[in-house]
Amino acid sequence: MPKHIFVTGGVASSLGKGLTASSLGRLLKARGLRVTLQKLDPYINVDPGTMNPYEHGEVFVTDDGGETDLDLGHYERFIDENLSRNSNATTGSIYQAVLAAERRGDYLGKTVQVIPHITDEIKRRIARLATDDVDVVITEVGGTVGDIEILPFLEAIRQYRKDAGRDNVCYVHVTLVPFIGPSGEQKTKPTQHSVTELRSRGIQPDLIVCRSEEPLSDELRNKISNLCDVDERAVVNAADARNIYELPLIFHDEGLDDVVCEVLRLESHDVDLSSWERVVRRVEDATEPVRIGLIGKYVQLADAYLSVVESLKHAGFHHGAEVEIVWIQAEDVEGLLAADRLAHLDGIVIPGGFGARGVEGKIAAARYAREEGVPCLGLCLGLQAMTIEFARNVLGLAGANSTEFDPTTRHPVIDLMIDQRSITDKGGTMRLGAYYAVLTPGTKVSEAYGEPVVSERHRHRYEFNSNYRARVEEAGLVCSGTSPDKRLVEFVELADHPFWVATQAHPEFKSRPDRPHPLFRELVAAALDRRRADAPTPDPVPASS
Ligand code: GLN
Repeated sequence: MPKHIFVTGGVASSLGKGLTASSLGRLLKARGLRVTLQKLDPYINVDPGTMNPYEHGEVFVTDDGGETDLDLGHYERFIDENLSRNSNATTGSIYQAVLAAERRGDYLGKTVQVIPHITDEIKRRIARLATDDVDVVITEVGGTVGDIEILPFLEAIRQYRKDAGRDNVCYVHVTLVPFIGPSGEQKTKPTQHSVTELRSRGIQPDLIVCRSEEPLSDELRNKISNLCDVDERAVVNAADARNIYELPLIFHDEGLDDVVCEVLRLESHDVDLSSWERVVRRVEDATEPVRIGLIGKYVQLADAYLSVVESLKHAGFHHGAEVEIVWIQAEDVEGLLAADRLAHLDGIVIPGGFGARGVEGKIAAARYAREEGVPCLGLCLGLQAMTIEFARNVLGLAGANSTEFDPTTRHPVIDLMIDQRSITDKGGTMRLGAYYAVLTPGTKVSEAYGEPVVSERHRHRYEFNSNYRARVEEAGLVCSGTSPDKRLVEFVELADHPFWVATQAHPEFKSRPDRPHPLFRELVAAALDRRRADAPTPDPVPASS
């Protein structure tokens, strides 16, 4: 029977529970255990698909088309496995299932209540991941202990230990040990309060992960151990790290996986972290600067583009380069300002997005990149913006647009290819999840991937309008990949440009720290070439001084 680890958080949000769960997953995997992860989110949306990225950051898409929390992206990048929609459940989806069962009469006339019906449904979600092919299920509970919405989840995970057996469940609580400036001290009180709150729900943590700016002293570790009634070894410290990929190594040094395995009486191999150590070494060696502009709509919140940012970093690791991301508000790139805003960049990414705001800026950036030979990668809406740009400025189709932004455009080069007009439900109604594409031999895209057929994740409604395909191809835009039935254009590029490539998919969801996605890898390669070519030749060093 699989073992369960529940990760909760206290004191503040954004403490890195997701990264703690991911790192632990990596460590257990490095011990030869088969691991899966899931996130329980206490908010009421059925999934994050309908939320503005400013609310909860990027929506991460799984192969099976789940629109999920961005922590699933961390999970996949750290444990290097593809997860499914089952790895994310929200209060909304849990109530939806319970209410549907109630309408069907499944509860046989009973009063339907939070306990046991909602809590049972939560436990069912947890249990469905505990299949024969996993040894450990790590479940991260979103939100913070003390929130009103989290209570049914805490009750469900409390019951889980009773149901599954004491040795089969481990509770990890992540808290903050703040540094209070005036007294010049780190403070344990918030951690004590948070653990008290957790205990009042019947859960005694087995381990406490303390986040702090500076390393925790032995004295504080001892204090937390005494006051919170956990072993001193089970007080694990994660001081701020230079980069997130270091975390598994830090946690291992702190003994996190050792203590977890003891609590769960898990027999495992010795830990083999050599492949992850290689990742971290690469990260540390990635120092050559390269500057990539991200022309986005939600640039005030980096999490809105989390997977794009990580993919750029991964590509940098591969090339020994440290990618500096320049956040550029799309609206600021419109019109004559484009050149001023973009001149200092070595490369450009035009990411996905919805709605008209900022689209003209993305189109202007695509034009600048095309005309100035700046490497440019378009993702989803990025492909649409680049196609519109090409249609308007190369093909001369004035007013060409997507019907998403101009429903009456004379030249709908981007349009709905399947009729979505009758769909009124906004949730889960896009082209979602993994689709195959067949690549055109000899193109940059096909060379980057090095395979004839690829699978990428999608999340969009609009498509390249194939009625315009012959015309744009004649004018020089290469369709470098299509759906297997050839109806949908999946990739476009320019032949006579260092790198002006776009995809209708979201390749950023598949990049891994040790395996950068080919399109990001090639974008950064082209950006580095440009930078090196532009770099002034250093003055010769005098032979003697
Ligand atoms: N808004 C566009 C569409 O729906 C692009 C979506 C995206 O970039 N994810 O097709």
